[in-house]
Amino acid sequence: MTPLLELINFQYYYGNIKAVEKVNLSVYEGEMVCIIGANGAGKTTVLQSISGLTDRKGIRGKILFDGKEIGHLKGSKVALQGISQSLEGRHIFAGLTVEENLKMGAYLRKDKEGIKKDVENVYARFPRLLERKSQLGGTLSGGEQEMLAMGRCLMQKPKLLLLDEPSMGLAPLIVKEIFEAVVQLNKEGVTVLFVEQNSRIALETANRGYVMQTGNIVLEDTCENLLENQDVQKAYLGA
Ligand code: ATP
Repeated sequence: MTPLLELINFQYYYGNIKAVEKVNLSVYEGEMVCIIGANGAGKTTVLQSISGLTDRKGIRGKILFDGKEIGHLKGSKVALQGISQSLEGRHIFAGLTVEENLKMGAYLRKDKEGIKKDVENVYARFPRLLERKSQLGGTLSGGEQEMLAMGRCLMQKPKLLLLDEPSMGLAPLIVKEIFEAVVQLNKEGVTVLFVEQNSRIALETANRGYVMQTGNIVLEDTCENLLENQDVQKAYLGA
């Protein structure tokens, strides 16, 4: 079976500095996969390189989506292939309302009726956004902003959803709620790859995981096995 996403000997250079040394990674359709690792390990660089947000000149190796090379495509072209990323820090448009933010997520689409329906679908998934549809994005709580960021991604109808640190800065109960929404999305058929520093919740939520250390993938396994791995427990689970 061809993976939906495949990175082959992927490296990334910021100028002369090698930020990612070697990443081989696959995500199959229907999976939920996480990448865990410490600050600066290179997780964000990997995610942003997939979604076309890094300078393409820094990429070495291959990024294949549906078997086609996408490493040379800019962000809007990658989005058209069916990849949508929610950024670390969420990047909500503070001066736009919730509904306007959602519609920004559909900027590549022309089907007005479909867009309207999908806004309703996002509200059904996140009722809190419906209650706040006319509120300015910048006034939402962190958890609501994360829901909005995810909702905005869904407006692109992605085949692959990329999430960068969805738990960042959120209280445990809200983190639980956000991850429940991600699980539900995955059940409905959206393939998910996410990066997390909260290793425990990441490994308890995803099917498979990769551990990144200073620019390299050092371990890959089912999340079940990673949770039982003593090195992982010591380094990432506070055991
Ligand atoms: P964090 O969780 O802290 O975001 P990360 O695992 O996502 O960490 P990256 O943000 O991908 O790691 O950073 C990997 C390395 O690349 C770091 O050493 C970082 O300093 C470097 N780096 C990131 N962005 C740039 C940039 N624009 N220019 C130069 N170096 C960068």
